[in-house]
Amino acid sequence: MQITILSGKGGTGKTTISTNLAKVMKARYIDCDVEEPNGFIFLKPDIEESSDVFIPVPKVDKDKCISCKKCVDRCQFNALAFVNKEIVLFEKLCHGCGACSLICPTDAISEEQRIIGKTHKGKSDDLECLMGILNIGEPMAGPIISKLKKAIDEKTTIIDSAPGSSCNVVKALIDSDYAILVTEPTAFGLHDLKIAVELVRNMNIPFGVIINRADDYENIIVDYCMDENIKIIGIIPFSKQIAQLYSQGKLLIENNEYRNIFKKIIKELEGEIIWS
Ligand code: SF4
Ligand code: SF4
Repeated sequence: MQITILSGKGGTGKTTISTNLAKVMKARYIDCDVEEPNGFIFLKPDIEESSDVFIPVPKVDKDKCISCKKCVDRCQFNALAFVNKEIVLFEKLCHGCGACSLICPTDAISEEQRIIGKTHKGKSDDLECLMGILNIGEPMAGPIISKLKKAIDEKTTIIDSAPGSSCNVVKALIDSDYAILVTEPTAFGLHDLKIAVELVRNMNIPFGVIINRADDYENIIVDYCMDENIKIIGIIPFSKQIAQLYSQGKLLIENNEYRNIFKKIIKELEGEIIWS
């Protein structure tokens, strides 16, 4: 069972929802927001395992190369160029697809591994927690997200995706049984929620909405969800106390009132999802 939490835009409280929900549900937590992972600040797991994430990049043997440039023509990412009678690799553009080595007529291309980031795995009490982190300046988060998602099995898993609707979000959403769209009752929140709704609808993933920082139970998000027949599975109030807990790196469920809100969200989820 994979439940992915996403938000149209950053700063809506996606990680707050993900971490608190994982803790109350006793579900595995995976932070796939690999450009800016911050779930571990709240869950504080003891790290048990860390490993590098690599992608294979081509290495050209100059003695075998006959300068045919077939590899340059084949690379759809423009990662190879022929400069001063030599093949040059722009490694940040290379997706590690291996097409260049397959096309090379003289087997001049071998592969070497390039580190693009790391994954960490640990336990927060009994909760299994994973996170990935992309090295600064690296453009491709996909291989890290794929590696993290290999941990998913029949146990319920909460995936904290990147904000927005980029390919990293799509990668996190793939194979999801349910998506939770976190938003806030502002014009920007509504604008970005609409994009997220289009994305999950295109991917045929059932979904519901959680409204965060709601200061009124009648707002533009409620109106939109009613018009679009979208289920609102939770409303978290705008509160100074929540902001204080967040700034101290604490989970909201340490407070009974907020714990009850998350219990209600789980009840709503139970009505939405057919649990395997
Ligand atoms: S591995 Fe793929 S992306 Fe990288 S240089 Fe070769 S063809 Fe281009
Ligand atoms: S395909 Fe092989 S032989 Fe041709 S230019 Fe590339 S590395 Fe050299």
